[in-house]
Amino acid sequence: MVTTAPTARDREATGRDRRQGQPPLDEDLAQRLLEVALEEAREGLAEGGIPIGAALFRRDGTLLGRGHNRRVQDGDPSVHAETAAFRDAGRRRDYTDCVMVTTLSPCWYCSGLVRQFGIGGLVVGEARTFTGGHEWLAELGVEVLVLDDPACTELLGGFIAARPALWHEDIGIGD
Ligand SMILES: [Zn+2]
Repeated sequence: MVTTAPTARDREATGRDRRQGQPPLDEDLAQRLLEVALEEAREGLAEGGIPIGAALFRRDGTLLGRGHNRRVQDGDPSVHAETAAFRDAGRRRDYTDCVMVTTLSPCWYCSGLVRQFGIGGLVVGEARTFTGGHEWLAELGVEVLVLDDPACTELLGGFIAARPALWHEDIGIGD
C-alpha cells in the first residue's frame, strides 16, 4: 500500500495539542534526523541483523538516544530499533518535546511505547514495506511525518529479498 505523507495542514491539525504552540516538524530537519536512524539500520545489517534503525531527538534536533533492531545480535526479539533508541536516551521527566525517528513504520509494540510515554512527534522513514501504528498515533494527537524515503525502502527490501525467513520471524508471520 502507499501511504502519502500528511500535508503541513494535516499535521497542523493532528499535532496541535501535543506541540503546545510550537511550529510543525520541519521536513528538511526530519530528513537529516532520519539519516541517523539510517546509519543505525546499516550498522544492524553489517552485524548480520535486521536493518531497522531509530533515534530519539528533541524537536530542535538534539540527539537523545539511538539504536537498531537487535533480535539476531542479542537473541532478544524485544529489542526493536525504537526501544533500543528509547533506552539509550535514559530517563526523562517528559517526552512531549521529543520526536521518535524510525526507518520503518513502528510496530504495535513500538507504537505503544510512543503512546505510553507521550512522545510528541514521530518521523517515519517508510511505511510501504510494513505499516504499523503510525496512523493510530496520528489519530491520538501525535504529530506524524511519513517521509517515504527510498533509501529506507531499498535497504529493508534488499534484506527481505535475501533473508525472508528472518523477516517473517520479526513481523510474526509463518513462512
Ligand atoms: Zn517495533
